[in-house]
Amino acid sequence: MRLAARPVGEVKPDDWQHGSVPVDEPGPGRFAGRTLVISLDPAMRGWLDDRPSYLPPVGIGEVMRAGSVIEVTASNHPDFRPGDHVVGVFGVQEYVVSDGRGAMKIDTSLAPPSTYLGALGMPGMTAYFGLLDVGALKDGETVVVSGAAGAVGSIAGQIAKAKGCRVVGIAGGPQKCALLTDELGFDAAIDYRAEDVRKALRRQAPDGIDVYFDNVGGDILDAALTRLAMHARVVVCGAISQYNNTTPVKGPSNYLSLLVRRARMEGFVVFDYAERYAQAAQDISAWIGAGRIKVKEHVVRGSVDDFPETLRMLFRGENVGKLVLELA
Ligand code: NDP
Repeated sequence: MRLAARPVGEVKPDDWQHGSVPVDEPGPGRFAGRTLVISLDPAMRGWLDDRPSYLPPVGIGEVMRAGSVIEVTASNHPDFRPGDHVVGVFGVQEYVVSDGRGAMKIDTSLAPPSTYLGALGMPGMTAYFGLLDVGALKDGETVVVSGAAGAVGSIAGQIAKAKGCRVVGIAGGPQKCALLTDELGFDAAIDYRAEDVRKALRRQAPDGIDVYFDNVGGDILDAALTRLAMHARVVVCGAISQYNNTTPVKGPSNYLSLLVRRARMEGFVVFDYAERYAQAAQDISAWIGAGRIKVKEHVVRGSVDDFPETLRMLFRGENVGKLVLELA
């Protein structure tokens, strides 16, 4: 699946082109593999724009960048054998040839391949370092998470619960809110589509928010800023409500509450924590094993052709937990 045109606003079917080419034989130091499952990430929208960011944009005519899990089918690489399952940034394609850079063998007897793209992969790492390092979470604090029923948000909220915090999730729709409180152990949930978030936060965080973990930006960020406790930390993880904008990103109009509350607002990119992923994965695995973290995954089964429609689900709130495309 190649990028055919730079999208304006929401990504459209015409922005993609699906083609077939013969698979190369893996040369010296390379391996070939078959894609099992592809990760869908909101960040993909940003990779399609030709503007400076933490990664270069996907070029027109290039295979779309994506994390995925593959099964090695042939190898001339010393570290990878046929039958190995490997996670890496292999792109939206059915077959892969790789030199192994950025690739990591995974143990699918411990967790299914999709989980290495979710709770034990990039979203899990994002929740962990965003909350514990950037958010400098302390036991027992009040934490609010937006995008709470998604891949990152659902893990962030459950880590905060494991740390003994009061956790309030913000998500779209009654079903997602019920999931947060009834299944994932959040103390409260706010349906931003049905409620005034600012009023709901006054009710659910009466003593103020110590850590606000923001996945969505826009009006919800603005509402959270009005409820900060003294020395609060606002973690800028993402701003999905702004990614399809054709007008400039909406900045927070309530940012002076940072001054009043002596608070801090800080962004981060998960890749900067790569050296500590192993420790984070160990902690998250332990929480999963102890039943403190429940893994939610939204698996779409199909082919590479289904990638464009599946990506759109993220921006319509149609996923619950980590969204992946499993190839038949
Ligand atoms: P999710 O699984 O949370 O999926 C996206 C969700 O966003 C949707 O399900 C939807 O949930 C919500 N959403 C979509 N549009 C809007 C809107 N206009 N307003 C409010 N909510 C909306 O995705 P991820 O967990 O993978 O990513 C979450 C965030 O984390 C993103 O902003 C992403 O860019 C960021 N991120 C940042 C990283 C970093 O290093 N800083 C790394 C990885 C992710 P609902 O139904 O509740 O609206």
